[in-house]
Amino acid sequence: MEKKEFKAESKKLLEMMINSIYTHKEIFLRELISNASDALDKAYINALGSDKPLTRDELEVKITPDETARTLVIEDNGIGMTQEELENNLGIIAKSGSLDFKSANSENDIIGQFGVGFYSAFMVAKKVEVVSKPEGADKAYKWESHGADGYTVTETDKDTRGTVVTLYLKDNETAENTTDEDNHTEDYAEYLKDWKLRQLIKKYSDYVRYPIKAYVTKHIHEDDPDKPGEHIHKDVKDWDKINSQIPLWKKSKSEITEDEYAEFYKEKFTDWQPPLATFHTHTEGSAVSYDALLYIPEKPPYNFYSKEFEKGLNLYSAGVLITDKCKELLPDFFSFIRGLADSPDVSLNISRELLQQDRQLKTIAKGIERFIKNELKKLLVNDREKYEKFWDSFGTQIKFGVYDGFGANKELLKDLLLFKTSADTKEDGTPKLSSIEEYISRMKKGEGEEKTGEQTEIYFASGASVAKIKSLPQVENAVAKGYEVIYLTDNVDEFALQMLVDYEGKTFKSVQSADFDSSTEEEKAELAEKNTAAKDIFEVIKEHLGDKITEVRFSAKLGSRPVALSASGALSLGMEKVLSEMPTAAQDEHKPKADKILEINANHAIADKLRYLADNDKTLLNAYADILYGQALLIEGIIPDDPADFTDKVVNALL
Ligand code: ADP
Repeated sequence: MEKKEFKAESKKLLEMMINSIYTHKEIFLRELISNASDALDKAYINALGSDKPLTRDELEVKITPDETARTLVIEDNGIGMTQEELENNLGIIAKSGSLDFKSANSENDIIGQFGVGFYSAFMVAKKVEVVSKPEGADKAYKWESHGADGYTVTETDKDTRGTVVTLYLKDNETAENTTDEDNHTEDYAEYLKDWKLRQLIKKYSDYVRYPIKAYVTKHIHEDDPDKPGEHIHKDVKDWDKINSQIPLWKKSKSEITEDEYAEFYKEKFTDWQPPLATFHTHTEGSAVSYDALLYIPEKPPYNFYSKEFEKGLNLYSAGVLITDKCKELLPDFFSFIRGLADSPDVSLNISRELLQQDRQLKTIAKGIERFIKNELKKLLVNDREKYEKFWDSFGTQIKFGVYDGFGANKELLKDLLLFKTSADTKEDGTPKLSSIEEYISRMKKGEGEEKTGEQTEIYFASGASVAKIKSLPQVENAVAKGYEVIYLTDNVDEFALQMLVDYEGKTFKSVQSADFDSSTEEEKAELAEKNTAAKDIFEVIKEHLGDKITEVRFSAKLGSRPVALSASGALSLGMEKVLSEMPTAAQDEHKPKADKILEINANHAIADKLRYLADNDKTLLNAYADILYGQALLIEGIIPDDPADFTDKVVNALL
């Protein structure tokens, strides 16, 4: 019997695969089951027009472990292979794949680019036998190989159509006999255990459309014939169908109940709670088609905010699992989504390295991104309560998405934003959430032809909590004048709004910014006059406070409060606070600072007091400057640099 060499490329690849430290040896079973399932498909299609058509029920994959013989048999009654086909199909590797050895520069690359297929059997087996017979053939043949040294094909006996692959598993690698540099050990015999087979078939091949039966121990209980009403429990060896065959996501939406969706989610993604929302799509495109079944969890997973959390969807190729965390399918701002995508257009043998560049996959990812956005928008409109629950758990993620990548995704995400505002409060006194669109619909329209008093910008204010924002003098004043103010309490909020720039042409304006002014022309003129008159006083104060502030001025937007800070320029007070709390290497003096303006209420008694001190007591004027500045900081939630000194000054002024 002549031993044939593998074709040169095959040999090289085979050696590498066998010796590689491939971390997923277990996928050999998925590969062999996929081959068997393809062979069943071919047999079915072949028989369609014939006088002996097959039904799908007669087609199956059977798996038999034998711990004594240390063999694992994978058998199908599919199309089978002739002698020639055995040689051609199994003697040349990756006939089907696009093979480009020259471009591959390292061994791992080649393995990565290839996927595995039939040859993965050699990752776990020292010898592989393939006995096969096509429908109607007289003879059956056996292909046999110990790996890289070549293979033989000989005639053999087999009664029925199909292929039987027998794996003679490698010896276990223990601490004593390991040949691996890193002393890696491997228990190949584990692949013969019932639980392991069940686990692998469920994990990778659950949705193969033919039954996959394994010869395993089944625990049964039946009526006791001798004792009526009692049961006998016993373990028997029998065929057990392991896979569930029909992927839920392949069914049409109308056939699936909410319960089924929820049960599937709980089992598949090990959550004890049903999902908050389920999104399901069948998409037929010119370039790719895919099904996607996506869920929003009720609560963020426990590790959602930690480094351990990995986003991603299960990726299937026609029902066979390729990877259970395909991160390329989900943008970071939708990382909370759990679910799967299945496309016949993605190659089963695609490697992790190639996933990132795959064109089909990119198209699917884009489609899924749009789909999630549209479904969330629908939820926002149709089921506000649910959407707000979602927002509560994952809203920050969306806001980061608006900010991230210099606003690359802001158009996609801006409609999904919700904020607390001064407009409405719930029964418990907390503000209701509002979309920006809703805010705009309530903006002041203005009066008469001239639209006097019309609100043209979207007003917001930021602070550590709603209560603190509400008590900001500028907010009190704006609200008293009938304007609605958005309350920003999350660190990311103001950064996200700044990235947005505007919403449907309406720009955002902080009521804490220096140029926010809702007063009438008359009021403005009056204020300008007061400011000019107090120029000298402000110069003294400014000189005393130095570069803590850029300007001192009278203001008419503080209501009844004496003092406040506002910011001019791009950096607001809130943003300065967020940045200063960030653990960066920058020294304190290099951290970005907002340009602060000390605003003093022109209509408050303090204004008269300052005028008096300017004429009579310069020392006390300086102390008042320090006190007013410190108090303005406190209102913003910022503690003065030297609280003890600040307290001394306040107390001294009281004496
Ligand atoms: P791929 O499945 O990607 O083509 P494989 O190396 O897994 O590559 O298999 C090579 C070929 O061998 C298959 O394309 C198929 O024609 C044939 N083959 C493998 N397993 C079977 C089987 N169980 N029954 C019939 N043909 C098979």
